[in-house]
Amino acid sequence: WKKHFTDLPADWSPGRVITTFKKRYLIKISNGLVEGDLSGRLKHNAGSPVDLPVVGDWVAISGDRQQVLIRRVFPRKSVLTRKTAGRTFEKQVLAANVDVAFIVQALDRDYNLNRLERYMTVVYSGNITPAVVLNKVDIPEEHEVKCRFEEVRKRFPETMLFLVSALYGKGIEEIRHFLEPGLTFCLVGSSGVGKSTLINAIAGENLAETGDVSTSTTKGVHITSRRQLHMLSNGTILIDMPGLREIGIADADEGLNKTFPRIFELAANCRFDDCTHTREPDCAVKRAVNEGTLDVRQYENYMNLRQEYKQYTQQVMEKTWKT
Ligand code: GDP
Ligand code: ZN
Repeated sequence: WKKHFTDLPADWSPGRVITTFKKRYLIKISNGLVEGDLSGRLKHNAGSPVDLPVVGDWVAISGDRQQVLIRRVFPRKSVLTRKTAGRTFEKQVLAANVDVAFIVQALDRDYNLNRLERYMTVVYSGNITPAVVLNKVDIPEEHEVKCRFEEVRKRFPETMLFLVSALYGKGIEEIRHFLEPGLTFCLVGSSGVGKSTLINAIAGENLAETGDVSTSTTKGVHITSRRQLHMLSNGTILIDMPGLREIGIADADEGLNKTFPRIFELAANCRFDDCTHTREPDCAVKRAVNEGTLDVRQYENYMNLRQEYKQYTQQVMEKTWKT
């Protein structure tokens, strides 16, 4: 990482994308914030939109406060991606260089283990460490909270799990302890689960600082943007990701294996290397379902997510063939 930064031409300097709005970028540099545009070359050389800067990207910039240009996007160590809504074969990078993603579900009607597995797949696929937050613990009966908690813990024993009420400030301290200066965290989850409330609860008054910062941008652009990077007072970086409706699968191979380690393990014992776990003889995965040692729900969700991923890659291939 240091190497990327030190190899720069003398008049370039590194910065990190805080947010993007209408093809302009707000960039944090060592001594403040600047607004920048893409350099012509970067625009021209970008093979597809996924190569353009997104929130969390480290970039090299040049110029002064009159005109700042983004010259280069540094290689990403992780990405949160999804299939673009509508145009099914296009991929969108939502955020880059995230270390930990809090997958937020609300303990009301939102709670859903299948959807949790979907988010886990997306997060793992992007080389991001997942953590799960069950919010709105104030709503259901206590036994129901306990039941959900146990269900998630049993399903993902190695994943950090938090029970919180963002609205009433319950469990927030535990999350704050988990935050680590220098690391980048983000929050994902359906809209309405309480991500904004949670971010405000975690940040406390620090978030107001970001508001001040946004009004002091050189061109005075008002930023009510989705996807914005916040710096907390302890040095933790938090990326806000409001307004995500569904998250379609674009990258999945590794993510599926990590989200479904038991199926991955079983699959090693199928007769065929390329077993689809549907009708093949000697399929260890189907056998486990039939013997009741693998949850049918888990198997079916795995098959759905895998199918979605296959469809995506197939469409990308077809598109590549046509062009
Ligand atoms: P977002 O779309 O994920 O950012 O969700 P918001 O933070 O906007 O919250 C959606 C709604 O849920 C708001 O009305 C919040 O007040 C409410 N909410 C958030 N956290 C909690 C909570 O812990 N308990 C309850 N009862 N409501 C909450
Ligand atoms: Zn099989």
